Amino acid sequence: MRLIFLGAPGAGKGTLAALLAAHDGLVHISTGAILREEIKAGSDLGKEANDYVKTGQLVPESLINSMLEKRLQQGDLTGGYILDGYPRTLEQAHFLDQLLAKLETPLDRVVLVDVPQDLIIKRLSSRLTCPNCGAIYNLLQQPPQKEGICDHCKSGLIVREDDKEEVIRHRLEVYEENTKPLIDYYAKKQLLLKVDNSASPQLALDNLLAQL
Ligand code: AMP
Repeated sequence: MRLIFLGAPGAGKGTLAALLAAHDGLVHISTGAILREEIKAGSDLGKEANDYVKTGQLVPESLINSMLEKRLQQGDLTGGYILDGYPRTLEQAHFLDQLLAKLETPLDRVVLVDVPQDLIIKRLSSRLTCPNCGAIYNLLQQPPQKEGICDHCKSGLIVREDDKEEVIRHRLEVYEENTKPLIDYYAKKQLLLKVDNSASPQLALDNLLAQL
């Protein structure tokens, strides 16, 4: 199964995608996580992307599209995947359409992970991330077992640079302007389904599994 997860930053796409990936044996491809890895490793791509990611702006299309094209041609995706954080613009959606047509691997569904705006801001400003394994926590609904420590790899948790308040506001504006139009785009292609993620990721997963 090949899926896209759409939704505002803080809607819980990453957490839900990780749950579904584990449940169905899919590969979870988060373009934000790949970029953070590249930045940590100090690669050329990481250096080019760093300022955009830190300030919550979209990385230029040519950079992100070639990164995605490379990732989708790796050999580990025959069992299916979830794209989390891509596409984020109509231009990216068109690029993806062409790429998937060339690879002869059409999309199955696009999942809109839906959460009311006030909850999104609360979640983003209480999110902690593991810089080592990428696990995501939330002090409101999903705190780590031990304060400030990752349950999985025991590293110290951090607040992502782009989860600081002024950057959060900018990321939400970028979402409204660039990414929201994709909801209509995929609805017209009859690929869209919607899952409410305001209660808990486990409930959202159950709801999603019932729709897939
Ligand atoms: P995320 O982890 O999905 O919130 O992504 C973090 C940051 O990575 C974003 O704010 C952008 O700077 C960059 N990024 C991730 N995916 C994309 C994309 N598809 N297009 C452009 N920039 C992206």
